[in-house]
Amino acid sequence: MTLGRLALGVAAAWGAYAWGAHVVTPACVWRGDRARRRIALTFDDGPDPAWTPRVLDLLRERRVPGSFFLVGERAARAPETVRRMAAEGHEVASHGWSHRSLWLCGPWRTGEEIGRTHALLTALAGSEPRHFRPPWGMVNAAMFGALRRHGERCVFWSIQPEGLRSAPPDLQVRHVLRRAHAGAIVDLHDAEGTPGAPERVLAALPAMIDGLRDAGYDPVTVTALLG
Ligand SMILES: [Zn+2]
Repeated sequence: MTLGRLALGVAAAWGAYAWGAHVVTPACVWRGDRARRRIALTFDDGPDPAWTPRVLDLLRERRVPGSFFLVGERAARAPETVRRMAAEGHEVASHGWSHRSLWLCGPWRTGEEIGRTHALLTALAGSEPRHFRPPWGMVNAAMFGALRRHGERCVFWSIQPEGLRSAPPDLQVRHVLRRAHAGAIVDLHDAEGTPGAPERVLAALPAMIDGLRDAGYDPVTVTALLG
């Protein structure tokens, strides 16, 4: 009986910490200003040593600034790619240290995931990251304080052409062009989470960028979109 109650209490506390924190996700950003025809292309899960440089080549060719939400431990293994992003005018942002869901992180570990990544990206990019995207889109109550301490803001997305299930490049292009709106934040992946994701993004990007420009959208970084 007592044990049962204890288990229930623990479940309720965890529910408030992890699931309950989602009630306050309106405090996070989902999109930018609706008044201007601007759009932010964001890339999660990198840097990937093979795919991210190819995405950077493509963005440079088309003069598009991107926003990269980097996994800290991957950034530590590809420091040159992070430096290149910053040098080429892209936004370097945080996606946590290990890509572990914050639902599985206590307050201390949450602070570590955010703080360690903040320090590394600041050292590599030469300026402090201003935005954080929680892995798997999962937040907890400790995240908000940790972000405040580091001057980061939680950013989700308003368009996601591929989630956990893979989507072919042409479908991703159509998905984005059909849903495009002023102030949109598009969530893409330049490293593997879903197998093959970076390859599909690379194939989809040219038509996606051209289509958005034809529709009158100006691609900007998240900081510019929210500024
Ligand atoms: Zn991710």
